[in-house]
Amino acid sequence: MSDATARFDLDEERVIRDAYARGEAPKCPRDGAAMTVRSIGGGSFGLGYSRKREWLICPTCKRSVIFDLKRGTRN
Ligand SMILES: [Zn+2]
Repeated sequence: MSDATARFDLDEERVIRDAYARGEAPKCPRDGAAMTVRSIGGGSFGLGYSRKREWLICPTCKRSVIFDLKRGTRN
C-alpha cells in the first residue's frame, strides 16, 4: 500500500486548478476538505526564467497535485 503516491484523476486536477486560478481556496473533490497550499521554489532563477510551482495537498485523503504556474505578467 502506497497511499502517499495517490493522485487525483485528470478531471479532478482540472477542478482544483480552475478553483485555484480563480483565487478560490481549492477543495478536495473527493472529500471536500480545504487543501493545503505550499509554494515550491523553482531554484532555476539564474537561468532566466522563474517558474512558480504550487503544491496542493489534501489533509484528509493525502492526495496531492503539483501545478506549474507560468507567470503571465512581468514587471
Ligand atoms: Zn481529499
